[in-house]
Amino acid sequence: MGEVRVRIAPSPSGNLHVGTARTALFNYLFAKKTGGKFILRVEDTDKERSSEAYIKNIFDSLKAMGLNWDEGPDVGGPYAPYTQSEKFDVYQKYAKELMDKGFAYECYCTQDELEEEKQTCINEKRPHIYSGRCRDLSEEDKAKFKREGRKPAIRFKMPSKIMKFHDVIKGDLEFDTSLMGDFVIMKSNGTPTYNFAVVIDDMQMAMTHIIRGEDHISNTPKQIAIYEALGAKVPEFAHVGMILAPDRTKLSKRHGATAVSDFIEQGYLPEAFVNFVALLGWTPSDSVEIKKLENIISDFSLESISPSNSVFEFDKLNWMNGQYIRSMDNSELTRRAMKYMEKYDTSEYSQEKLEEIVASVKEPITVLSEITDAVEYYFGEDVTYNVEAQDILNLPEAKEVLTKSIDLVNSFDFSDHDGLVEKLMAFRKSFENVKPKTVMWIIRAALTGRLRGSELSAVFTILGKDRVLHRINKAL
Ligand code: GLU
Repeated sequence: MGEVRVRIAPSPSGNLHVGTARTALFNYLFAKKTGGKFILRVEDTDKERSSEAYIKNIFDSLKAMGLNWDEGPDVGGPYAPYTQSEKFDVYQKYAKELMDKGFAYECYCTQDELEEEKQTCINEKRPHIYSGRCRDLSEEDKAKFKREGRKPAIRFKMPSKIMKFHDVIKGDLEFDTSLMGDFVIMKSNGTPTYNFAVVIDDMQMAMTHIIRGEDHISNTPKQIAIYEALGAKVPEFAHVGMILAPDRTKLSKRHGATAVSDFIEQGYLPEAFVNFVALLGWTPSDSVEIKKLENIISDFSLESISPSNSVFEFDKLNWMNGQYIRSMDNSELTRRAMKYMEKYDTSEYSQEKLEEIVASVKEPITVLSEITDAVEYYFGEDVTYNVEAQDILNLPEAKEVLTKSIDLVNSFDFSDHDGLVEKLMAFRKSFENVKPKTVMWIIRAALTGRLRGSELSAVFTILGKDRVLHRINKAL
């Protein structure tokens, strides 16, 4: 096998969707595994639906996932331009070549005429296939249409046959192309259609494998027919199953986030997200699911991708993200968590203390955005009590516990964490009529305004003596 060349070819009509992200990842993994090239191409022939903002989002999201490309619109490469709207003349040229060789023809049908044909098919209960009535127009016919002001589209003469091809993931496939009819490759406004531009680009850019979603399987026979007409080498195809939501319907916004940037914004770690997305269709040979990218690359093969659909289990993503958060080094985790602590005055703490704060709250966290709420009581002089905390502070025994805790705090050496824990342990058991658990709750409620959070010893050491005493007095 020569050098592998694969691509991701997003249409910038929305933010990078997880489905496209997974396709990009599989292409990237295959390129890295085989020492090949991973290329980014922007398929923006539909000017109405494309936007610069979406292009930026797609680039940024791919980069955030670490899927850097070897050739593309921004980095260039030997087959530039990598943006379809910059090469309309190239598509024109190939369309003309196909017409000259008799593989394509001008079609002068108007929208109304095509609509009428369609209606007739529907009425006669036949599949809707273009009749091909412009296939053999004479020069006079064409001249007459032109005089009427009609502008021609260009249609490809789809051969009628049983077309077979081998798909690396789906196996042997066959299609009856007589059911497809002659399809438009250039619209009357001079823009190419997807099926045409994609072939010209994949051919010119010397793609060896086309790895993409199975929603494109039905396009593949049309594309193969164009390769054959141009006498070009047909690449290998590998179609990946769809990504379904947990309810087994198509994954869409109503199920939650679908854009990569939304997941990252919510605080999914890109490395956890990439790991999770890789498992949507691919199974590691040793069944160990949490894997670094380099290990995914070394274990990856197209043949190990499942031909079936995969289910996007949000719970599994949350679990996996939590695993990554807990195993991450505290300074790195703090660096990433800063974004979620912007509403607080973090300058009141040293870097070391901020790391202690993040480390003390990370255990139950599934996404980084939960950090904002989790660290709230570490900032500002006072805390607001939630309902549970208020109930605890209203207990008749609260006053005694809090009053006595002042002496306890005064006895603490705040630099001796172990000693502090020991004293706290002894304190909780020192009441005859108050359960140790209740003692801890009362103190926790006073210091944090809630009943769940960091280890109490961490709360003491991070807040420091003055603020601890202030909050106890306030609660009293
Ligand atoms: N622009 C197409 C899409 O986003 C690319 C399909 C393909 O990979 O051929 O679906």
